Amino acid sequence: MIDNCIFCKIIDGKLPSYKIYENEHAIAFLDINPINPGHVLVIPKKHFKTLNEMDENPGIELFKTVMHIEKVVAESGCVGTNVFQNNGKQAGQEIEHVHFHIVPRYPDDSFRFKFKKTTVSEEMIKYSLDYYRSKLT
Ligand code: AMP
Ligand code: ZN
Repeated sequence: MIDNCIFCKIIDGKLPSYKIYENEHAIAFLDINPINPGHVLVIPKKHFKTLNEMDENPGIELFKTVMHIEKVVAESGCVGTNVFQNNGKQAGQEIEHVHFHIVPRYPDDSFRFKFKKTTVSEEMIKYSLDYYRSKLT
């Protein structure tokens, strides 16, 4: 529990939420400013700021919960879902308590990931390969 964290306050019952599900490790509630109706947030009960700061077991349990809820969202009448998670301000993280977004998608809705695809040099590919392969042993 972190004092100035609004998601910790929701877990603690000090702030209201439209809670839809809870288990030992995680809770899920409706996003207060949804991208589409039925937009759900899934958060670990233990406070971690970003994904890479999470311990493995809460992370596994969180993702199991995300999968459980995504299935229900996917069967709710939408035509697809987006599941995403932001880490850091630059990545669009507003609330510094790890959370997954589950967004139901509808034909012609307004949600777009806006980005320009790029190409990379052979040198950059080699750099990335060397870096990742050396770290991921
Ligand atoms: P992010 O930009 O990934 O940090 O997403 C934070 C999300 O939390 C946004 O989609 C907000 O609409 C949502 N949000 C902020 N405060 C609340 C709240 N009290 N209850 C539910 N959702 C919230
Ligand atoms: Zn928190």
